[in-house]
Amino acid sequence: MTRIAIFPGSFSPFTNGHKSIVDRAMPMFEKIIIAIGINSKKDQYFSIEERIQWIKDIYKGNSKIEVKFYEGLTIDMCEKENANYILRGLRDSHDFKFEKNIAQTNKSLNPNIETIFLVSHPQVSHISSTIIRDIIKNGGDVSKFIPKEVNL
Ligand code: ADP
Repeated sequence: MTRIAIFPGSFSPFTNGHKSIVDRAMPMFEKIIIAIGINSKKDQYFSIEERIQWIKDIYKGNSKIEVKFYEGLTIDMCEKENANYILRGLRDSHDFKFEKNIAQTNKSLNPNIETIFLVSHPQVSHISSTIIRDIIKNGGDVSKFIPKEVNL
C-alpha cells in the first residue's frame, strides 16, 4: 500500500516549525500532501495563492511533496486523495489536548485513517504562525522563524 499523508494546516505563513515536521516525516511516506485548509473564521492574512507558492518554492524538485488547498473536512480530503494518514505536529500540552479530540473524532468517522503525531524539536517548538503574523504586523523581523523561500 502506498503511504500517502495529508499535512493539514493554515500555514499562514509556513514556518521553520512546519518545515521541520514535513522534513522528518519525509522518510515515512511515499507522498506528503501539504493541504491548506480554508477556514473562513481564521485570519486570512496571506492569500491562498501566496501560501501555495511559498511551499512550492521550498520543496521545488522534491517529487514526494504536493501542495493543495481544500475546504471542508480533512477526512474528506484524505478520501479524495487516497491518503490513509494525517500528519500533525505537537508543540506542547495545549496542542495535545486540541489534537487528541480531533484525532479521535476523525478515527471514529473513518477508522481507516490514522493520525500520526511528531513531537516538535525544542529548537522550533516556540514558533507559531499567529506570533509571526503579530511580529509582521508590527514591523519586526521574522527571518529567523521562516524558510528563506517565504518571501514576505
Ligand atoms: P492549524 O490552524 O491547523 O493549527 P497550523 O498551520 O497552525 O494549522 O499548523 C499545522 C500543523 O503544524 C499543526 O499540526 C501544528 O501543530 C503544527 N505546527 C505548527 N507550528 C509548529 C511548530 N513550531 N513545531 C511543530 N509543529 C508545528
